[in-house]
Amino acid sequence: MSVLTAPHFHDESAAYAFVEARVWANGISCPHCGNVDAAKIGKLTGKSTRIGVHKCYACRKPFTVKVGTIFESSHIALHLWLQAIFLMASSKKGISSNQLHRTLGITLKSAWFMSHRIREAMRVGGLGPMGGAGSVVEADETYYGPKKDQTRAVESRPGYRSYAQRKPGFVKRPIVSLVERGGQVRSFHVEQATKVNVAAIVSANVSAEAKLYTDQSHLYTEVGKSFADHQTTNHSKDEYVRFEGDAVIHSNTVENYFSVFKRGMKGTYQHCDEKHLHRYLAEFDFRYNSRVALGIGDVSRAASLLDGVVGKRLTYETTRAR
Ligand SMILES: [Zn+2]
Repeated sequence: MSVLTAPHFHDESAAYAFVEARVWANGISCPHCGNVDAAKIGKLTGKSTRIGVHKCYACRKPFTVKVGTIFESSHIALHLWLQAIFLMASSKKGISSNQLHRTLGITLKSAWFMSHRIREAMRVGGLGPMGGAGSVVEADETYYGPKKDQTRAVESRPGYRSYAQRKPGFVKRPIVSLVERGGQVRSFHVEQATKVNVAAIVSANVSAEAKLYTDQSHLYTEVGKSFADHQTTNHSKDEYVRFEGDAVIHSNTVENYFSVFKRGMKGTYQHCDEKHLHRYLAEFDFRYNSRVALGIGDVSRAASLLDGVVGKRLTYETTRAR
């Protein structure tokens, strides 16, 4: 039996119950006045009442679980949202807006908007440092797609070519990723991969007790000194792995992450404006961080995404402008 036959993917009441169980896991609260007294909140059940409507008796206002989440002010049925979330959470290389549009029978514009909101729900922030005593964090940078500044310069010129017409050779957008071996990844889109920018990311996100493994890029030389250990492999001399005692020194884990990201972006998304790159990174980070190797399956991965839907309200305009 396909997992997509579960009631919350088809029945709107079941979809509301599913989302409510996750968003209100620690108890219901009124999104208007903050009232958390369940005795002062009632569920409206009249025949003409919309599904999922509750009323707060403290501020007298009605609300549903969608208020203050990525689902707010969307006209798409919640059970279709849950299907979209499942598809995005379980497709290793992502799923295009075009595919969502055809699979769910919604407009392309709605599909595009939904997928960006779902990426927002995948985005996490304000986390503590990665790694600890004895753990290894690999850091590396890569470059993806044409960079916006170049695009602008071309746009202002006569004979400006559209995305599809552009030739390779544009400045690429730098991405820095940190991966704890056997653990999680965090990726960052930076304006420029400079020593200062990269050091700021590495020191803010990696525990000083961890060991840092990188290639021989000068970007990591200084910041590397602030960790328990910093080891490098010399790729220009074809050294990709080195053994020192018990230590297996390489940065293949983070490089493998980059290759999954690039294959997915190339195969599924093709076009990605720079202002949205951080959201695509959040999408690939999310799937990596809830991968099967960590014992997390498709169903629980999709359900865990609901923990990130609150406080990520995103209007169509902010999606476009960042
Ligand atoms: Zn209230």
